[in-house]
Amino acid sequence: MKFHVITLFPEVIDSYVTASILGRAQKDKLLAVKIYQLRDFVSNKWGKADERPYGGGPGMVLQAEPVIKAVEKIRKGKKMKVLITSPNGKPLTNAYAKKLAKEKDVIIICGRYEGIDARAKKILKAEEVSIGPYILTGGEVPALAIIDATARQIKGVLGKFESLEESRVVSHEVYTRPEVLKHKGKSYKVPKILLSGHRAKIDQWKLRKGHKSRG
Ligand code: SAH
Repeated sequence: MKFHVITLFPEVIDSYVTASILGRAQKDKLLAVKIYQLRDFVSNKWGKADERPYGGGPGMVLQAEPVIKAVEKIRKGKKMKVLITSPNGKPLTNAYAKKLAKEKDVIIICGRYEGIDARAKKILKAEEVSIGPYILTGGEVPALAIIDATARQIKGVLGKFESLEESRVVSHEVYTRPEVLKHKGKSYKVPKILLSGHRAKIDQWKLRKGHKSRG
């Protein structure tokens, strides 16, 4: 599966997708993340991609033309799903990520400032996606959240000893060494049940502590 990310801040995307599990998935050719600098698609020589909003108001708006040019260059006439990060978009859930993981190519456009000229969405028939009910300064963190949640749904991305939360008993409360943690004169022990080796009882305990929502 290939993600194409259009952004004004390529280095932000690059450092995350080359680390840890996503980095390994790319090396293993299970995932590819290609990053495009939006400024490379503007027609003025200063690389300026934003302008003041019509109708007034604070902040700047990303122009539609460079965004459309970038998408067309990536698509080369092929059909590809196009996402725009937006606080007003469809909520990102595991169910959404699972569906997205079935696509071969997905283009993600990262907004900045006051957002992207609304005509880009219309012309590109793009879908807006939100990662939650709060406003961030840009679409890079949302793009990474979409990529990360989706990549986990691709077979082989999570290693042998890991597996999807949806397919196993999982607890959000986890423990590792040491068995007894000493802090400011107090001892904090690992729950006994986890040391018992009793698989069924451990699973019961995990279920009690389990995630409330796996979407
Ligand atoms: N004033 C705009 C917000 C702009 S935030 C509005 O009310 O819609 C700047 C950019 O950050 C947005 O264009 C979007 O791409 C991204 N962004 C901010 N919060 C987001 C969220 N919760 N989910 C997805 N994208 C978000």
